[in-house]
Amino acid sequence: MNPNPKLKGQSALVTGANSGIGKAVAIALANDGANVVVNYVTHPEAAEAVVTEIKNNGGTAIALQADVSKEDQVQAMFQAMYKQFGTIDILVNNAGLQKDSPFENMSLADWQLVIDINLTGQFLCAREAVREFLRRGIVPERSVAAGKIICMSSVHEVIPWGGHVNYASSKGGIMLLMKSMAQELAPKKIRVNSIGPGAIQTPINRAAWETPEALNKLLTLIPYNRIGQPEDIGKLAAWLASDESDYITGTTVFCDGGMTLYPGFSTNG
Ligand code: NAD
Repeated sequence: MNPNPKLKGQSALVTGANSGIGKAVAIALANDGANVVVNYVTHPEAAEAVVTEIKNNGGTAIALQADVSKEDQVQAMFQAMYKQFGTIDILVNNAGLQKDSPFENMSLADWQLVIDINLTGQFLCAREAVREFLRRGIVPERSVAAGKIICMSSVHEVIPWGGHVNYASSKGGIMLLMKSMAQELAPKKIRVNSIGPGAIQTPINRAAWETPEALNKLLTLIPYNRIGQPEDIGKLAAWLASDESDYITGTTVFCDGGMTLYPGFSTNG
């Protein structure tokens, strides 16, 4: 636990928190004093391992199962969270997946699955959180804001990605979901922001880093010349959820080692 925890007494829900970025975010928020819900859809044992790690660090966490694309499951998860922690102060909409294929072969099922989980899942969770933020209002002992939402987007909210049009469309959608919510909810003191990770070393992109050849090819896209780690995102999420970033809303913070700087133009064009 950090000696001066920034999120003391706050309650946070992190979707897809039994793997990769979500896991690191859950651990970082708990290290800053938040009570954390570790959401998962499959692999309960991995979710319990995250809960155990948080408890071993002196934090508080529970695991709750829900498919973020299913309205009834999302609502039941929020109710279970309120039973345990009373309310929600921070939502990190992290759950997501890829179903890649050449455009002409992309099935409607694969298009729909990615949109349902990556985009509609963020809408469903955000709507539940906002309902509770509005009902409860500001609790000055915990935060100057009535609530904070962090959407896990991607550099692919701005960088087109052939072979992954369903994924890039979901992230482009998240960008305007986030900005429109931020505009509507700022007067209610609810902050909504996105994190745009570049290449972070997790199971979602294993093929891009697991051989030296693949990693070297990937590094040509990253001016800072290293692959990102889930903890890079965890630290940023804890800061964006805290009052230290209170004047920031409606923004995507890219955490990408410069991937959005068009590195191909550094020696060409
Ligand atoms: P990951 O595969 O390790 O984690 C994804 C998590 O989402 C898993 O816990 C998975 O079980 C969960 N999930 C999938 N479908 C779900 C559902 N229906 N309901 C609830 N949970 C579900 O991958 P990751 O890299 O940690 O990805 C996390 C987020 O970060 C995703 O939104 C991804 O698009 C985004 N992202 C990752 C990278 C990267 O380089 N790793 C880059 C940009 C954006």
